[in-house]
Amino acid sequence: MNPYYKDFSEYMREMFPGMKVQKLSIDAGFTCPNRDGSIGRGGCIYCNNASFTPGYCSPNDAVETQIEKGKDFFRRKYPEMKYLAYFQSYTNTFGRSPDVLMDMYRKASESEDVVGVIIGTRPDCLPDDLLDGLAELNQKKPVIVEIGAETSSDDTLRLINRNHTWAQVEDSVGRLHSKGIRVGLHLIAGLPGENGDDVIETVRKACALPIDSIKMHQLQIVKGTPLLERWEKGEIDVEPFTLEDYLKLCARIVKTIPRHICIERFLASSPPEMVAAPKWGLKNYQFTNMLHNRLKI
Ligand code: SF4
Repeated sequence: MNPYYKDFSEYMREMFPGMKVQKLSIDAGFTCPNRDGSIGRGGCIYCNNASFTPGYCSPNDAVETQIEKGKDFFRRKYPEMKYLAYFQSYTNTFGRSPDVLMDMYRKASESEDVVGVIIGTRPDCLPDDLLDGLAELNQKKPVIVEIGAETSSDDTLRLINRNHTWAQVEDSVGRLHSKGIRVGLHLIAGLPGENGDDVIETVRKACALPIDSIKMHQLQIVKGTPLLERWEKGEIDVEPFTLEDYLKLCARIVKTIPRHICIERFLASSPPEMVAAPKWGLKNYQFTNMLHNRLKI
């Protein structure tokens, strides 16, 4: 057991005792309301979806096919593995009716060896009728909704062109929780204009909400994004963390998050050829080991 915080393995063991569980990423061909003009245009300034979509999933394949391909990918090593269908790319509750969405999630959840569903989305794309459907599915197999919150500062949210507010995060978390659906928040450390204290403030506010998990990562300046363009021109106040500073900050974050909330991870590791800064060249487990060594002291 991780002595410092509840990690994702422990969270999974609580939900699925005795099982080994792996996420299977799915790209179901969603778009994003912050790109197509429904909510905003241009997307969040740091976003290039190609940097976080695994190679084995393609929106050209049906969801069921992607699940099978994902299982083949992992099954060779661990035949007894169970899976969470993870609707990851873009905004996975947007642009289709609740009935169509629920049909898709349900079919994914019914695939052999799939024990639950994770749905990544924005706080402003969770209408009540969809939540009713998710609550019903959650009675059969666990559903986790992962909300991109990023920061509790509305000024920063504006600056990074998120086009939602922290109040919308609070509202969506409250509505999901009231229906018994587990909620994870995605947060980014080191956004433009923010320092370590700002990140801790966001983590504190997140932990005051009825959430089940937090997924953190350092801001990466990724190629093909407005952030890189503005950073190179010196138009935006952003200083990527050094590894040492980020380790220090993560140690503070661990001490801020209560044990009942899972910390899913601390590091984003997009393909190195896509990242302009910071270039640490670390895998998630390597960073975690460094952090744990630090927490021992
Ligand atoms: S981070 Fe999410 S909300 Fe922002 S542009 Fe990318 S897909 Fe859209």
